[in-house]
Amino acid sequence: MIDCHVHIWPHGSGTSFPVEKTLEKYCEQAAAVGIEELAITEHLFRFVQAIPLLERAWTAEEPSPLLEDMHTYWRTHATADLDAYVTAVEMAKARGMPVLLGLEVDYYPALMDAVGELLSGYPFDVLLGSVHWLGSWRFDDLDSKLSMDVWDHVQLDEAYERYVAAVEELASSHVCDVLAHLDLIKVTARVPEDLSWVHNRLADAAFMNGMTVEVSSAGWRKPIAEQYPCSSLLELLAEKGVPVTTASDAHDPSVVGHGFDKLFRLLEGAGYTHENTFRRRSPLAVPLEAASLEKR
Ligand SMILES: [Zn+2]
Ligand SMILES: [Zn+2]
Repeated sequence: MIDCHVHIWPHGSGTSFPVEKTLEKYCEQAAAVGIEELAITEHLFRFVQAIPLLERAWTAEEPSPLLEDMHTYWRTHATADLDAYVTAVEMAKARGMPVLLGLEVDYYPALMDAVGELLSGYPFDVLLGSVHWLGSWRFDDLDSKLSMDVWDHVQLDEAYERYVAAVEELASSHVCDVLAHLDLIKVTARVPEDLSWVHNRLADAAFMNGMTVEVSSAGWRKPIAEQYPCSSLLELLAEKGVPVTTASDAHDPSVVGHGFDKLFRLLEGAGYTHENTFRRRSPLAVPLEAASLEKR
């Protein structure tokens, strides 16, 4: 199996430790759990090259504590150099490490063309598309009391509508190859009774735009305690023939390949026989095989 979504830095500051040593640790863990390839997909907002985008992303918003918190958040995070990151991952590949050069491209409303332009000069294997914020509300940031408090007075259907619309815009921008954690809006376990419209629109966004969907074990480590996407959305994707890839969303080497035995059974149950890996932004279907040392 492929672990198509791996971070090398924890959240917060701390991007300065040597990338090469870090990648070695991730690859050792991948080998130990039978993962064949790892896509290194650090967040775009970790890099100083994203600052011009981040500066423009929320200019239309009225001043508020949430907006102030968002500015503080990205100023803390946008400290690494994208060129150095690209070089380090490409060198690791050249040395035979089973890594792919990727990025988790967060959703920048109305700025996806500029994101595409910024990234077009780099030799990425795979770009993941993610929605983590709705305006300046970081709805999935469990460590932000300010963002979590919003959940207490928000209309659930309205929050889900905003999220789905953001995924639709992100998918139709064609800037990314994969939709990551497709139903992330459920992360805090606040879920409306009727999810059929949410699932239909999310599955259509993937299908209509020819995107691969990530099936991720990260949700099992969150309050929702369920993989992304949930089983009924996964079935819908399978019906439409939307290709998938597998992911841990690890922020630490010990999490690489986490829950992949369960992911494998889920995908097998949904009728998947292949998953996608990527080469220079082109999907490559490989047989879906359980991540176990016996298979290697
Ligand atoms: Zn993410
Ligand atoms: Zn991630």
